[in-house]
Amino acid sequence: MDIRTSMFRPAKRIEDLGVSEILAITARANELRRAGRPVIILGAGEPDFDTPDHIKEAAIAAIGRGETKYTALDGSPELKRAIRDKFQRENGLEFGADEVTAAAGAKQILYNAMMASLNDGDEVIVPTPCWTSYFDIIRIAGGVPVPVACDDSTGFRLTAEALEAAITPKTRWLMLNSPSNPTGSAYHEADYRKLIDVLHRHPQVWLMVDDMYEHIVYDGFRFVTPAALDVAIRDRCLTVNGVSKAYAMTGWRLGYAGGPAGLIAAMAVVQSQSTSCPSSVTQAAAIAALDGPQGFLADRAASFAARRNLVVEGLNAIDGITCRTPEGAFYTFASCEGLLGCVTPQGARLDSDRDFCAWLLEVADVAVVPGACFGLPGYFRISYATSQAELSQALARIAKACGMLQHRSDA
Ligand code: PMP
Repeated sequence: MDIRTSMFRPAKRIEDLGVSEILAITARANELRRAGRPVIILGAGEPDFDTPDHIKEAAIAAIGRGETKYTALDGSPELKRAIRDKFQRENGLEFGADEVTAAAGAKQILYNAMMASLNDGDEVIVPTPCWTSYFDIIRIAGGVPVPVACDDSTGFRLTAEALEAAITPKTRWLMLNSPSNPTGSAYHEADYRKLIDVLHRHPQVWLMVDDMYEHIVYDGFRFVTPAALDVAIRDRCLTVNGVSKAYAMTGWRLGYAGGPAGLIAAMAVVQSQSTSCPSSVTQAAAIAALDGPQGFLADRAASFAARRNLVVEGLNAIDGITCRTPEGAFYTFASCEGLLGCVTPQGARLDSDRDFCAWLLEVADVAVVPGACFGLPGYFRISYATSQAELSQALARIAKACGMLQHRSDA
């Protein structure tokens, strides 16, 4: 529903924000399904695996012990211990108890951080394509997102030159996400070091890194996080993570972060007047996830890698579509530039990635998300967190539909 057409007068801070286009596409796909069409939805940003049993059992045991009351505001001491152990064990980062925080999802962590740090008009540099929520979270907090377009010529990565050019006296944060939603691209240590060199010259710019997809990496990719690379940057870096993607726990709602104590305390102020503590039961589950066996993470990543290979090969075999091989996450971000301007058998011209995706849904019964939703038109995102059988079928349908298009040169 468009918030501007109702009798209700929305607050200025949200009146220009749209309801997520991804949700609108998913709603249309579900409508077609209800009408009996065999729609395959490759839009969802969540693993199709189930939460492991030892994690579920820890939550049930916590309920049995009566751990159903408020806990400390931004995480129980036991959860904070588990978070600090995780950062130490996996990332080589030492945080004190006052340097970590937990919230109802990484999304709330990002929201707390922006609300706690931005004044009206402060700028946040966001390499695009990026996860759709970054821009709106920054805007709600009064900030100004500064998109910096990164196309597949740099593997969708921000370069030091582009960062330097985007910094102004008003820049407060640089936001990075690796592996990335929507591209699956990840930063190597050398890439990060070049960006860190630029940040050294601009001490007013803080660094926010979103490591949500840390455990979903392929082909031996060595994941690193910037705070672990440079002591000076660690003092102005918020390292964001969560259990949603790694442990297939999207519905449990638990995200966490490590960073300087002053920022962490300011984030707690925001959280204290919005949601208070994350669910006590979820906190018990998250402790089991972080402390428990980690071996299955590699098995799941291997299963995602097989799906990635299937999708990348399938897409590159289609005339007009090109797709780079992502290092991680469970998304491909392929170019459909080669198909723009084509005419469909129904007589419509596909002028944009939005046209292309809408047409695929109507004609091929496959729901994918236009690159424009993530700030880079001319591409589309596939989430391959679904079975290989379903992916093969979707690719066959996309190939068949694209084969029916009349190219500009044929006309
Ligand atoms: N960051 C990125 C890049 C994401 O893709 C998501 C989920 N789609 C999140 C953060 C938020 O995760 P959650 O709130 O479930 O922890």
